[in-house]
Amino acid sequence: MSQNEILPKDKENLDVLSGTQEIIKEALSKLGYGPEVYELLKEPMRTLAVRFPVRMDDGTVKVFTGYRAQHNDSIGPTKGGIRFHPDVTENEVKALSIWMSIKCGIANLPYGGGKGGVICDPREMSFREQERLARAYVRAISQIVGPTKDIPAPDVMTNSQVMAWMLDEYSHMREFDSPNFITGKPIALGGSLGRDTSTARGVAICIREAAHVKGLTLENARVVVQGFGNAGSYLAKFMHDAGAKVVGISDAYGALYDERGLDIDSLLERRDSFGTVTKLFKNTISNKELLELDCDILVPAAIENQITMENADNIKAKIIVEAANGPTTMEATKLLAEKGTLIVPDVLGNSGGVIVSYFEWVQNNQGYYWTEQEVENRLEELMVRSFETVYKTAQARKLDMRLAAYMVGIKRMAEAVELRGWV
Ligand code: GLU
Repeated sequence: MSQNEILPKDKENLDVLSGTQEIIKEALSKLGYGPEVYELLKEPMRTLAVRFPVRMDDGTVKVFTGYRAQHNDSIGPTKGGIRFHPDVTENEVKALSIWMSIKCGIANLPYGGGKGGVICDPREMSFREQERLARAYVRAISQIVGPTKDIPAPDVMTNSQVMAWMLDEYSHMREFDSPNFITGKPIALGGSLGRDTSTARGVAICIREAAHVKGLTLENARVVVQGFGNAGSYLAKFMHDAGAKVVGISDAYGALYDERGLDIDSLLERRDSFGTVTKLFKNTISNKELLELDCDILVPAAIENQITMENADNIKAKIIVEAANGPTTMEATKLLAEKGTLIVPDVLGNSGGVIVSYFEWVQNNQGYYWTEQEVENRLEELMVRSFETVYKTAQARKLDMRLAAYMVGIKRMAEAVELRGWV
């Protein structure tokens, strides 16, 4: 499909994998690569599907299904998070692994992309059930992961505690402590200072850069954040501290709106570990209404396919910075780009997470730990450079930022597979 062709609503492609393949194809062809490179990179080189039993607190055994996809290891080991979510599918995990490759390519990290997921709802599970699930999943995928093969991290509804259990399980299996097996760990187990806020910090840097090119000031800018998990909640806090007015936030159950700006500090104190907070309030609006609010900056920080041809035309934000993976469909991207909305795509917008994960792995490999300031300075440098490279490519080639980001992100991998003689 060509860049300017906008599909009617009913033809919109909501399948994240084929949507990704379309844009990979376009990016590679614009870079002058032949069909063999696309054939190799359109799917992960390896996807493991596992089924494993977990003993529940009531004594019964439940069998769970999980996946781990490794897109391509021509650059180095694969890298990417593990999500626990009822809607996980094999195609979704595959697409997410490709997006990780693009992120690592843009930031120039020595990794290909990987991703894992388990079909489950941790909100319905006890702490100990989650622990047994995390450990069983690591045992199930242990053959293909490791510090020089594939390095996991947190993603939707997993956190540093889950990483700690996974690290412990892996270290037991290998019979030595392996902090470089997984990132996003607690500090006491070799985690990096600044990792917990890194995704949001990266998003905030992108917002600052995007506002700058759009001639918008952050002071009093109206910001809407969809999702109040790790990325969304810290981001709301950073925006609030930067003088912006966070007028809307949401979680999986609803959204809060106040045109005078919400009290972010109190919301942060009251949310649970899954980012749930709206249940405590009566006057909520829907997630759909939240996305269409009159605002300057919109940050989708929840899940996929939130901005589609159904609502793209009603979106009023001038800047959208994607903190979630895949919140906007390819078709909606085109429509919004034509309207003049600046979209900073996920593969750039949320790359602060994997960038600091890389710093964590480097520190684990060296056994030498950095200060929070060092982490922040290095993140700032990489994020600004990534933003500039993608923005300049978009401007020079007259492309939307997503296609430009894919071109920047896939280039090194296409080069690497050719240099290795794989194509
Ligand atoms: N899950 C995060 C992402 O989608 C972080 C991955 C990582 O740190 O490896 O980018």
